[in-house]
Amino acid sequence: MMDIQFDKEHLWHPYTNLSEPALTFPVVSAQGVRLKLEDGRELIDGMSSWWACIHGYNVPELNAALKNQSELMSHVMFGSLTHEPAIRLGKQLLEINHESLQQVFFADSGSVAVEVAMKMAAQYCYAKGQHDKKRFMTFRSGYHGDTFGAMSVCDPVNGMHHIFSRLLNQHIFVDPPRCAFDDDWDDKHIEPFKQAIAEHHHQIFAVIFEPIVQGVGGMFFYHPEYLRQIRMLCDEYDVLLIFDEIATGFGRTGTLFAYQHANVAPDILCLGKALTGGYLTLSAVLCHTDIGRGMDNNFMHGPTFMANPLACAVASASIDLLMKRDWRNQILLLEKQLKEGLLPCQSLPGVKRIRTLGAIGVVEMIKSVDTDDLVAAFVEEGVWIRPFAHLIYVMPPYIMQAEDVQHLCKSIYRVIKKRYP
Ligand SMILES: *Cc1c(COP(=O)(O)O)cnc(C)c1O
Repeated sequence: MMDIQFDKEHLWHPYTNLSEPALTFPVVSAQGVRLKLEDGRELIDGMSSWWACIHGYNVPELNAALKNQSELMSHVMFGSLTHEPAIRLGKQLLEINHESLQQVFFADSGSVAVEVAMKMAAQYCYAKGQHDKKRFMTFRSGYHGDTFGAMSVCDPVNGMHHIFSRLLNQHIFVDPPRCAFDDDWDDKHIEPFKQAIAEHHHQIFAVIFEPIVQGVGGMFFYHPEYLRQIRMLCDEYDVLLIFDEIATGFGRTGTLFAYQHANVAPDILCLGKALTGGYLTLSAVLCHTDIGRGMDNNFMHGPTFMANPLACAVASASIDLLMKRDWRNQILLLEKQLKEGLLPCQSLPGVKRIRTLGAIGVVEMIKSVDTDDLVAAFVEEGVWIRPFAHLIYVMPPYIMQAEDVQHLCKSIYRVIKKRYP
């Protein structure tokens, strides 16, 4: 048996404290869409391990890529050396993204990708002689990661600003998008952004936000017209545009990248999470040739594990697998199954509204839920779902079959009904 007591006393888990350790379940293996607990129970995974494991677990093609690469070299420094896994992955990323994105920086996690993107924007503006620029602009209710630069553009109220405010740079926050993905567009929705950029463009390097899906900050799906209008405004005012697609990339929202719903491209794009199919930590920042070639100095970033060959090899295999499978139809099917499966929840008294987009299903509750309590209730139901705040949501691996999706949705219904009568 695992030494859970040691875990409780010594190991931090995400967003927890060690004086009141959160509930944890020992997991021993994972296969397909199922996590196997130490006591033998199997759970249908509704989380894809935080957007990452899009092909499920223990995937033969990804295992093979790792094994083959590990027998060649698991790692070499990227300073003054290069290798096939990095070149191959770079080519694939350019091929599946907008043609204007031509330069690739490999970093080690989503948060670091955001740091890199922000530094790129700043260094490029300095090179252009734009010395008045000193801030970034973003939407409220955003989430971009936990490092300092990333934290500074997370939601100022629900993010970590209240703890670290004295250490964070002050940026400009605009009211979050309010027009939902399927609602009728009205130009009044862009007014707050339009006013803010008109007022502040001299001092902003770039606008940064999550296209189409505000993730942690509310799991809200907003209208693609925001992206089109913001692209135009950024061009008009000569402000760079950064999209954080760390959660939404690689098919999750029904298009390969969420920005493709709007047919506009950012100047800088952050990718992470599902990039390696959930096998290893790796992120990538793509940018325009102008930015890549427009700096008068070296770009000052270079992590030790930059372009780690194992991570690049497994990422390549994951993209190959995605392209080989009919991902578009898999996502369409999941969207339909989630929509139908979650519909009954709408009539429960604790539920505010439900929504789905691509392979994401969200039940928004009227009040915040108790994460530990609900996680335990879901485990009793044989599913792995970890709600937070007032959101119970699933984003299953793309390979999930209809009956497992139904099981997830029925479990959500039963647990809400029981806990919030
Ligand atoms: C998860 C996430 C990040 C941070 O990525 P990490 O790999 O956890 O550092 C940044 N932006 C978005 C939109 C995310 O969902």
